[in-house]
Amino acid sequence: MPATSPNQPKYRRVVLKISGEALRNDQTGQTIDSDVLDRLADELKSLKEIGTQVAVVVGGGNIFRGLAGARSNGTDRTTGDNMGMLSTVINGLALMDRLEKSGLAVRVMTAIPMDRIAEPFIQRRATRHLEQGRILIFVAGTGNPYCTTDYAAALRANEIGADAILKATKVDGIYDKDPHKHKDAKRFTHITYQDALTQRLGVMDAEAFSLCEANKLPIIVFSMSDRGAVKKVIMGEAVGTFVG
Ligand code: UDP
Repeated sequence: MPATSPNQPKYRRVVLKISGEALRNDQTGQTIDSDVLDRLADELKSLKEIGTQVAVVVGGGNIFRGLAGARSNGTDRTTGDNMGMLSTVINGLALMDRLEKSGLAVRVMTAIPMDRIAEPFIQRRATRHLEQGRILIFVAGTGNPYCTTDYAAALRANEIGADAILKATKVDGIYDKDPHKHKDAKRFTHITYQDALTQRLGVMDAEAFSLCEANKLPIIVFSMSDRGAVKKVIMGEAVGTFVG
């Protein structure tokens, strides 16, 4: 259950969703930006003192997306989705490496068995790792094609009893229209699931979103480039957009 005291973290256990896009550096063309990994390591290190348990779900869109592959070069959708899921493994290992180098205890759990590389996802083992203070990185999405890593984040968050999903993106929250195209776009600080749905704000894909709504799991959308944002969100400060 979320804590209530002002000096206590609002959330005891969270799933942090990082899209593959957030890992890419568009300027340098780096697929996995070293600076982003460093920043993530700093953010996660800063959580040690407050004790919030963190499981990270990484996307793979910086490397491959099944749907895009099917459209652009006719890759079979299931094959493409498998390639997409493997992309998340690459990202997850890069993140694991960086977090370990900064002194954090990390475990990678995969939805597709690959014994030599990562542990299989087992719910009770996952919660045990979190209780031991280890950061978890969930890779390979749900293990099923025709899904997204947003869905994996919603699924895992429910499975491990997380209090919230923190969705780190390139934009600092949810706007009523595209802030890159409209100067008068307004950012929501708080929005209900229902309003987000009816206004088609595209917080997550519909399946992931309804899994959160059905289980009353709040989603906080914020910018990856906002330093200290992860800790602020966890402490209950008004950062980004709260969906719930
Ligand atoms: N994917 C999948 N099943 C899953 C999760 C992901 O098939 O459970 C595939 C899908 O092709 C997706 C790709 O992996 O496009 C990368 O994931 P996603 O697009 O969610 O990454 P992000 O947008 O977060 O970078």
